[in-house]
Amino acid sequence: MFGGSGMDSGPRSVIVVGAGIVGLSTAWFLQERGVEVTVIDRGGVAAGASWGNAGWVSPALTAPLNSPYVLREGLHAMADPAAPLHIPLRADLTLARFLLRFAAHSRPSAWRHAVAANAALNAEAIETFDVLVANGVEAPVTDTALAVAFRDVRRADDFLRELDAMDGPVVSEVLTGAALHDRVPLASEQVAAVVNVADQRFVDPGRFTHALGDAVLARGAALHADEVCGVSGTTNGARVMLRGGRSLRADAVVLATGAWLPALTGRRVRVGLQAGRGYSFTVPVDRALPGPIYLPEARVACTPYRDGLRVAGTMEFRRPSEPLMPRRIDAIIASATPLLDGVRWDERTDLWVGPRPVTDDGKPLIGQLGAAVFVAGGHGMWGLAHGPASGRLLAEHVVTGKQPEIARPFDPLRGRRGARPGDTLTLPL
Ligand SMILES: Cc1cc2nc3c(=O)[nH]c(=O)nc-3n(C[C@H](O)[C@H](O)[C@H](O)COP(=O)(O)OP(=O)(O)OC[C@H]3O[C@@H](n4cnc5c(N)ncnc54)[C@H](O)[C@@H]3O)c2cc1C
Repeated sequence: MFGGSGMDSGPRSVIVVGAGIVGLSTAWFLQERGVEVTVIDRGGVAAGASWGNAGWVSPALTAPLNSPYVLREGLHAMADPAAPLHIPLRADLTLARFLLRFAAHSRPSAWRHAVAANAALNAEAIETFDVLVANGVEAPVTDTALAVAFRDVRRADDFLRELDAMDGPVVSEVLTGAALHDRVPLASEQVAAVVNVADQRFVDPGRFTHALGDAVLARGAALHADEVCGVSGTTNGARVMLRGGRSLRADAVVLATGAWLPALTGRRVRVGLQAGRGYSFTVPVDRALPGPIYLPEARVACTPYRDGLRVAGTMEFRRPSEPLMPRRIDAIIASATPLLDGVRWDERTDLWVGPRPVTDDGKPLIGQLGAAVFVAGGHGMWGLAHGPASGRLLAEHVVTGKQPEIARPFDPLRGRRGARPGDTLTLPL
């Protein structure tokens, strides 16, 4: 089937487009299976969402975005430009279609379906990071408990019930009073309760992704700084068209271009995918935090980063490459300030915006699009945590030619009647 050999052995060479956490994880696990890999990214390693994110590898908290609660919040956000969820009011038919489908997938039953599917990635999230680190990816992965801080003790109890609804064991407890302030030394007097969620991890995501890129290169991959503008696949292999007219060939190609996936996959994928842009910055703090904290009311995540704190938040549905909007950083600061003391907001540095690849049904796209063409992406808020597990899953699919059972819910052709994974393909359609 591959390499023109006419035999149905797996591919010997694969081009991976996208050097974020998902593309590089796929590259690494393909190399584990003896495949020769070429990586292409127009911006180099970690040029997209994989750089400035909050760095949480926290399977306990990976609830899909699609939920009745987020839907209500979204309607409210239309009228409030400072809300953590920001939907610009402008004529954008693709966004309107996405939001309608997102709403349809926000029923409790659809949410539970996505939770059950994503449980397979949660189950392997921490272990796959351990595999990478044990085999030459030189970046720290820190064991931690996460602190989730609330103004109202009753909201903490609600949150515990939400944790229970997630698929998988979670060890958690509610802290108040002195125990709360010992656990979160930056908590202001407005914080009434903290839920401590044990057995999670965090990383410096830029550092981790670069270390993964170094490991992939050290194992023999080539990295090209080029923009891919088209892809074709037949039973004899794949061809990748580069801006400027050149093309590269391999036995197969994996598209892992994050929030930019639709530019290549076009109408071949029915599932809607939009950039849910998030912002982050670094601030110095007066008292070091022992681990990350989440402020659900502000939808802000804070992670120990170098000598200070990386503060991350906002979900803004704009095109992935639009410029950073300073007022969204101001909105994050305004919402987090009442809950935290000892943060030197005025000394912020590293202002960053990055696009989460959000699908309309809360599940990623991992699998085969057509003959010799595969895709991995669409992990939304949890692509760092689920990236290595997804890469391992897709590498198995590419090499064996068989869709792993647990990857079925992530089939990128779901909802597209008549399309077959073996179809000859030229993208974008
Ligand atoms: C503020 C914020 C906080 C977050 N916090 C967390 C967290 O704590 N934990 C977690 O699990 N997730 C988190 N996420 C989500 C996570 O960052 C993303 O889901 C993940 O990084 C997506 O990885 P990716 O490899 O799919 O895409 P990306 O990292 O965006 O990589 C895609 C790459 O493709 C390249 N590319 C695109 N188009 C082309 C083309 N045509 N040709 C060549 N190259 C191309 C881009 O340059 C880019 O490097 C957060 C996101 C944000 C924004």
